Amino acid sequence: MHVVIIGNGITGVTAALRIRALQPDWKITMISGESTYHYSRPALMYVFMGHMRYADTKPYPDSFWGEQRIELVRDWVTEIDKGRQRLTLHRAGTLDYDALLLATGSKSNMFGWPGQDLGRVQGLYDLMDLRRLYDNVQGARRAVIAGGGLIGIELAEMLHSRGVHVTFLVREASYWNNVLPPEESAMINRIITEAGMDLRLETNLVEIVDDGTGNACAVKTDKDERIECQLVGLTAGVSPNIDLVAGSEIETGRGILVDWSLRTKAAHIYAAGDCAELVDPEGGRNTLQQVWYTGKLQGRVVGEVIAGREVSYDPGIWYNSAKFLDLEYQTYGRVNMRVPGEQSLVWEHANGLHLVRIVHVAGRVIGFNLMGLRYRHKVCEQWIREEREIEYVLEHLVEANFDPEFFVRYEDEIVRALRAQLTEEAPAA
Ligand SMILES: Cc1cc2nc3c(=O)[nH]c(=O)nc-3n(C[C@H](O)[C@H](O)[C@H](O)COP(=O)(O)OP(=O)(O)OC[C@H]3O[C@@H](n4cnc5c(N)ncnc54)[C@H](O)[C@@H]3O)c2cc1C
Repeated sequence: MHVVIIGNGITGVTAALRIRALQPDWKITMISGESTYHYSRPALMYVFMGHMRYADTKPYPDSFWGEQRIELVRDWVTEIDKGRQRLTLHRAGTLDYDALLLATGSKSNMFGWPGQDLGRVQGLYDLMDLRRLYDNVQGARRAVIAGGGLIGIELAEMLHSRGVHVTFLVREASYWNNVLPPEESAMINRIITEAGMDLRLETNLVEIVDDGTGNACAVKTDKDERIECQLVGLTAGVSPNIDLVAGSEIETGRGILVDWSLRTKAAHIYAAGDCAELVDPEGGRNTLQQVWYTGKLQGRVVGEVIAGREVSYDPGIWYNSAKFLDLEYQTYGRVNMRVPGEQSLVWEHANGLHLVRIVHVAGRVIGFNLMGLRYRHKVCEQWIREEREIEYVLEHLVEANFDPEFFVRYEDEIVRALRAQLTEEAPAA
């Protein structure tokens, strides 16, 4: 049995290791055009800022893959022949498979802006982008980044760390307000501005201007402004990378369509991670999940399915964490997801740098947002899973607190403030 995995991101490697654990004798080949060895994509920014070496972003030593008997191929797959169960590679000819996993990740959105293909214009997704950034930052004094969200702010921080002045064009009226509630979103607006970046809300990129040599020298916005710059970052989100299967008979929607065991309709072909779109069997909304831990979870499930187990993916309780400049952000469960009856208790420190939000429906906790402090993942998840009453959570909030120093200083204040809001919320008798 020969399993071929396209993509060596978190999804591909988790699947490969799971298959190896369950099927010691099978042949496993993992192909990636980007790099021979798996590395941590979220760590790209730290390499650029000099906080980590590239070698430190690889969770496994290079010798590990040989020990696991997982063959690594550095190449781009250009075609899938489903009938012959054969892949065509850009450099290395063809490769036959018995089972094929597509774990091709995402790609940066490019919305056809005039000038998007000029030099000194780039997204931020992979090692090729990182290399481009090292070149593009040379001599750059001003950059314009179009598109808020998590990758936009990372790129802004990376450039800011090199002394490049950043203008940030954000379509929304407040930063990432399609995901964050108003208080958290306002907090991010503030920290971006206080860091000395020029945040332009409700502003869209219209055109990138050519300096006459094929490089960007300015952008034009829908506010009739022209902003001079030597670098343009395009970070308007990502989409599943379905390029390889486009035009093939493997079904796609926004991503590669799979059932909840991560099987496509094509025989022996599976897809998982950022590139996969899970079809709702009831005909409802399909699921796309494009974060690290869901790639890991899906990789594990698809590895087991390929190895012969009958399992299906359970997305569990939503979790995400990120950093906005120096501000830590964690979210657990459902926050700002327009759940009917959703109510929030919010505490925000007077300095505008710490926030706790607990979301509940009819007194049962469904989610947490934490800004500038950390709560324990396991504890919050357990309370959400057990549908704990808000009163219970307030009484036991100390158990979630991660930082003893923060606890000593603010715990009483937080609980008091949240309790007071709970009393205000209670319907009159
Ligand atoms: C800058 C950045 C920061 C991020 N930070 C966070 C974070 O803090 N927290 C978080 O949860 N998530 C974060 N993410 C998202 C997270 O990295 C992704 O969800 C995750 O990497 C998806 O894993 P994957 O294995 O599905 O795909 P990927 O990691 O994208 O891997 C796909 C691989 O497939 C290969 N490939 C694609 N097509 C082909 C082909 N035709 N032939 C050969 N190889 C091919 C690519 O070379 C690539 O290596 C970040 C993403 C970016 C870009």
